[in-house]
Amino acid sequence: MDYKEHIAIVQDWPKEGITFKDITPLMDNGKAFKSAVDEIVHYSKDKEIDLVVGPEARGFIVGCPVSYALEIGFAPVRKEGKLPRDTIKVDYGLEYGKDVLTIHKDAIKPGQRVLIVDDLLATGGTIEATIALVEELGGVVAGCAFLVELTYLDGRKKLDGYDVLTLMQY
Ligand code: 5GP
Repeated sequence: MDYKEHIAIVQDWPKEGITFKDITPLMDNGKAFKSAVDEIVHYSKDKEIDLVVGPEARGFIVGCPVSYALEIGFAPVRKEGKLPRDTIKVDYGLEYGKDVLTIHKDAIKPGQRVLIVDDLLATGGTIEATIALVEELGGVVAGCAFLVELTYLDGRKKLDGYDVLTLMQY
């Protein structure tokens, strides 16, 4: 399937100089969205995944249907102050700014095999921070799946040694 026809390219958003890849047209197309989720599910099938982890907010949109299809749980990674119970946190840099990500301390049991899902890989800051949280809790990152990869931002460099799937590359 040609997913790119369902991605809207938005110039100078959220800031001048950023070319944003908007996935909402893909989400709006039931067949394309299902096909993309199915590809990630297929990629995960032989990886003995115990849990899907996704960073807010678009990681929830893509990660939750994957966890549903695999009949396993989903653990959210969120900005500071959003999760109600004990958390661990990590500072990270992203394509346009700096922030903190958190996860519940009891979200992952040591040794659990985790699939991390997000909509887009840009500089890799978000996935690097998410991996750090998963590994600090003793999780094993068995795979990382994205709809879109911005290859010109070299996020893959931060994923050396990890198993990575991206469905579209720009
Ligand atoms: P990174 O941390 O790899 O630089 O940026 C990836 C994160 O920022 C992802 O969580 C993603 O949702 C968001 N992001 C950055 N650029 C874009 C973009 O062009 N389109 C979308 N949909 N998300 C983006």
